[in-house]
Amino acid sequence: TQDLVDLDPEIAGFINQELDRQQRGLEMIASENHTPLAVMQAQGSVLTNKYAEGYPGRRYYGGCEHADSVERLAIERVKNLFGAQFANVQPHSGAQANAAVMHALIRPGDTVMGLNLAHGGHLTHGMKLNFSGRLYNIVPYSVDENTYEVDMDEVASLAREHQPKMIVAGWSAYPRQLDFARFREIADEVGAYLFVDMAHFAGLVAAGLHPSPVPHAHVVSSTTHKTLAGPRGGIILTNDAEISKKINSAVFPGQQGGPLMHVIAGKAVAFKVAGEEEFAERQRRTLEGARILADRLSQQDVADVGISVLTGGTDVHLVLVDLRNSELDGKQGEDLLEEVDITVNRNAVPWDPRPPMTTSGLRIGTPALTTRGFSTEAFEEVADIIAETLIAGATGNRDALPELAYRVQALADAHPLYPNLEPFGA
Ligand code: PLP
Repeated sequence: TQDLVDLDPEIAGFINQELDRQQRGLEMIASENHTPLAVMQAQGSVLTNKYAEGYPGRRYYGGCEHADSVERLAIERVKNLFGAQFANVQPHSGAQANAAVMHALIRPGDTVMGLNLAHGGHLTHGMKLNFSGRLYNIVPYSVDENTYEVDMDEVASLAREHQPKMIVAGWSAYPRQLDFARFREIADEVGAYLFVDMAHFAGLVAAGLHPSPVPHAHVVSSTTHKTLAGPRGGIILTNDAEISKKINSAVFPGQQGGPLMHVIAGKAVAFKVAGEEEFAERQRRTLEGARILADRLSQQDVADVGISVLTGGTDVHLVLVDLRNSELDGKQGEDLLEEVDITVNRNAVPWDPRPPMTTSGLRIGTPALTTRGFSTEAFEEVADIIAETLIAGATGNRDALPELAYRVQALADAHPLYPNLEPFGA
């Protein structure tokens, strides 16, 4: 067998370049993280060779005894982590987990309520080109135009009017906590399933720093690679035995063939890590970092160039920057921060006057930097750098950028990422 660098130097080279990019820059995309080396080792293992269609003890292939052990452990760990009675760890991604939940519990044509994509919802909660928008009759709910927080009275009145079969609570770009108990009350009143997609905030829930949806929802899905810091993938949790049977059959054979056993092994490792105190401590710093950033971006020098923070702050791991009153748009903000080696993503804000490829917002998250060891002081410095970069952009002062890029390099150097990971061919 040949080493990757000998067999395919082009791909080895691209991976090396990506490692270098991650090490040199500061990753602040709110949905990303740096997974532990141990998770990557599990993913790079021989489990990738194994077909294991079915579930532990009930497989359609021989030779699954070790795959069974891996999947059973992953299931036990994630049930303990979130206090759920049933778990499915096979979804290849968050989107596939959500497709399976809908497939399991509702039928094409049924009415589903989800947070408006333009107000922070996810594609799988009803975007018209997504399976969700194509298969189901979507009634979106919105944030309030004054507070920018989900308007629960609107959720209740839309539910009474449209009698949905399912209400989806969860978000991709929203800086506050949802009221799961109130969502459940509304779902019960109209006889709908409450489905919570905790993809973004699952790590905070695991650490006890965010209310858990598990006691309130009929079913909960998550990705495993955002705040949870595991491999890319999805999970589904429930406390209802009947629902769990439907979910299992919707994942396999409903949505997927063979599970990605190497990824399930990576998930198991990540669930173990997430149960430890060090992980909880990291989630505390994640929240603190986001608060520091929101505070800095609320100061007068930033306000003076028309930039503010949506909802005035954050309760979670991300901050939404509102550029509607600024000369700077989302695309320009994203590009400028990239120039100083900070990666964020532009994001539409509610009632965004600019087009979707431009936008008037930035979504900035702290999980990856926390994993990298950022302290309160380091977050204060990065918050300053972001504020000064955006001010430089809004005032056309490009001369400020080289010094800002230099300060980013100092932060990156002080917080080495994967220091023991050798590039291919080194
Ligand atoms: N659900 C939410 C709330 C998300 O934010 C995302 C990803 O951004 C997903 C689901 C989809 O996850 P994946 O990209 O793994 O399909």
